[in-house]
Amino acid sequence: MPKVLVVDDDMAGLLMASEALSAAGFDVIEAADGQIAVAQYNAHKPDLVVMDVIMPKMNGFESCAAIRASEGGEHVPILMITGLDDVESIQQAYEAGATDFVTKPINFYLLPYRVRYMMRSAKNADDLRASQIRLGKAQRIAKLGHWEWTLDTDNVEWSSECGNILQCESLGNKLSSFLDAVTADDRGHVAGILERAKADAGRFNFEFRVIGCDDGDTRIIHVEAEPESGHLMVGTIQDITERTNAEEQIHNLAYYDLVTGLPNRAHLYDMIALAQKRSAQKNTKFALLFLDLDHFKQVNDTLGHNAGDLLLRQVSARLTQAIRQRPSIGAGIEPVSNNTEVIARLGGDEFVVLVDFVDRVEDAAYVARRICQTISESFNLDGNEVTISTTIGISLFPDDGNSAEKLLKHADVAMYHAKEQGRNGYQFYSQSIHQLALERFAMERDLRKSLESGGFHLEYQPKVNISTGEVAGLEALVRWQHPERGRVSPADFIPLAEETGLIVPIGEWVLKTACQQMVEWLDQGIQPFIMAVNCSAIQLVRTDMAQVIKETLERTGLNPAYLEIELTESLLMQDVERGIKILQALKDLGLHVSIDDFGTGFSSLSYLKRLPVDKLKIDQSFVKDLTTDPGDAAIVTSMITLAHNLDLTVVAEGVETEEQLGFLHAEKCDEVQGYLISKPMACEDFAKWVRSRQSETRKAA
Ligand code: C2E
Ligand code: MG
Ligand code: MG
Repeated sequence: MPKVLVVDDDMAGLLMASEALSAAGFDVIEAADGQIAVAQYNAHKPDLVVMDVIMPKMNGFESCAAIRASEGGEHVPILMITGLDDVESIQQAYEAGATDFVTKPINFYLLPYRVRYMMRSAKNADDLRASQIRLGKAQRIAKLGHWEWTLDTDNVEWSSECGNILQCESLGNKLSSFLDAVTADDRGHVAGILERAKADAGRFNFEFRVIGCDDGDTRIIHVEAEPESGHLMVGTIQDITERTNAEEQIHNLAYYDLVTGLPNRAHLYDMIALAQKRSAQKNTKFALLFLDLDHFKQVNDTLGHNAGDLLLRQVSARLTQAIRQRPSIGAGIEPVSNNTEVIARLGGDEFVVLVDFVDRVEDAAYVARRICQTISESFNLDGNEVTISTTIGISLFPDDGNSAEKLLKHADVAMYHAKEQGRNGYQFYSQSIHQLALERFAMERDLRKSLESGGFHLEYQPKVNISTGEVAGLEALVRWQHPERGRVSPADFIPLAEETGLIVPIGEWVLKTACQQMVEWLDQGIQPFIMAVNCSAIQLVRTDMAQVIKETLERTGLNPAYLEIELTESLLMQDVERGIKILQALKDLGLHVSIDDFGTGFSSLSYLKRLPVDKLKIDQSFVKDLTTDPGDAAIVTSMITLAHNLDLTVVAEGVETEEQLGFLHAEKCDEVQGYLISKPMACEDFAKWVRSRQSETRKAA
């Protein structure tokens, strides 16, 4: 039964009201004045109060205010009984907190209805309040706030939670008022979104980071909004840090190995797919190194699984170290600049390393070797010294397969082969590649050794003036005497020397030796001519060639007028502006520059005009069929004309027959070089040859 407190000093009125309400099923409590009313209210906590205004001791206004102030009294509906036209009392009653009023004389028949309606709406208000409280709680737990943005005035109202979420003590009434709390990295981005949102007035959502005031931690905030009407946007704001972290954790669990923290198999497959794309685009190779630790089981069995886990972690650290450095062309070992290498653990003692951008198969072999070496150094597992080794199988994309499955399977197969060969080694899936890698390694090692032990020497091939027959110059050609293989052609070892960067010291040795030789000959009184030295593209790119030449000239005392540098056009064409600069620096030293193997590159004639060079050497491939192939004959003729038009001396290389010589003579080629004149000769032979040649030409003259 709902309880009603009826307050009236007029006994008749009190009785009538009580009667009417009791009859309607209310539980009625009575009070004869305002003071008693407050006491009764506190004692019974009625659901509604009906109160007269004019009473002794404490009037209705005072009593109403006192009830409102007492515990639980804030929301109890209070119905005031006022005089009929007493507007002032009505006003005062509301100010004291009354819910509604009835005027005297009271219609006691209708009073219960009035009371019932008031109770119903009070209950609705209670329910609403309760659900608002629940909602508030839920929002607090969910770290969710809401806001309303009136577009005409640009004013924003924030729910109380918003300030906490945005880590702002007080939020202004503009949507952008939280921007100060946003991390510097995100601020510009967020400001941009808000600007656009204002212009569009459409749905939007975005995320950003704020720094927590208390803990300094970064929180991730999600904002979402949609238009409510033409001039109102409603939105939410939520701290989603925990959710994001949980998602990240789930991702980590799915993509990383728990023991080592390395990518797992699923992750590796993704990375292989990416590498495949990259390789296809750039036309490069990558390698998969499949590793298996030898005798890992023994560690697990004897020292326990914790020690085993520790070993796996230490192995992964060493692998990371090992792949961070790899050889690169020309500069020995240097750090890898791209971060595309991947180390993954497939489970157990199996690891896979993805080595990207493998220009040469040896690159993959280098990494494999370094891994074998670093793993074979002893590990300390909580005081136990343990030595293990690893065996590696290597597959290459695209050579050994075009899918992650195939590449892994083939690397695995290669790993088993390597195990059969004895552990602690590596093996390529393809036998021919394996052989190639081994040979290249051996050659490289031998080149290095020869460089130290004087395994190189020079031969000299003359160039003669086609009309006078006089010696115009000579070209120094490097020779490699391999300890087992004998003479190795420069065509075979120069490319390797270029790839490994060994061409730099070899080239410097050639330059120094040729200059010394020339000085010696000049001292002996030989007829002066120009000594040409070949210079590789790699030397120009890797070193300051002009400086190297300058120092060599100073040290040997050779007059730069007797030195010529032969460069191939391909290099100069790669970066024309740079090529011109390099050539100019060489020319400034006072030496001669010639373009070697002219016609084999793709130089554009307009650039050729700008290159500061003295000479063109027509490549021997054009000279070879000169007398049988009219096409080649036409090319050679136009090259000669072109060279002369550009004021360049022109030399034909590889002249072997009198017919070729005759043709070149007729076409006014300046100089010739080739077996017809002489093969490259050792220095003593060359000196003899020159002397006899000189006396011959003198005789002829
Ligand atoms: P290149 O500079 O065009 O040298 C000319 C090559 O043609 C030499 O081969 C020479 O022996 C050969 N040759 C000369 N006359 C004839 C002929 O009448 N018929 C035929 N069939 N061949 C002839 P080589 O000495 O084997 O050198 C090959 C290439 O190796 C050179 O081509 C040059 O590019 C490179 N090279 C040689 N020495 C050096 C060096 O010291 N430094 C650098 N960077 N490269 C060098
Ligand atoms: Mg040459
Ligand atoms: Mg040549």
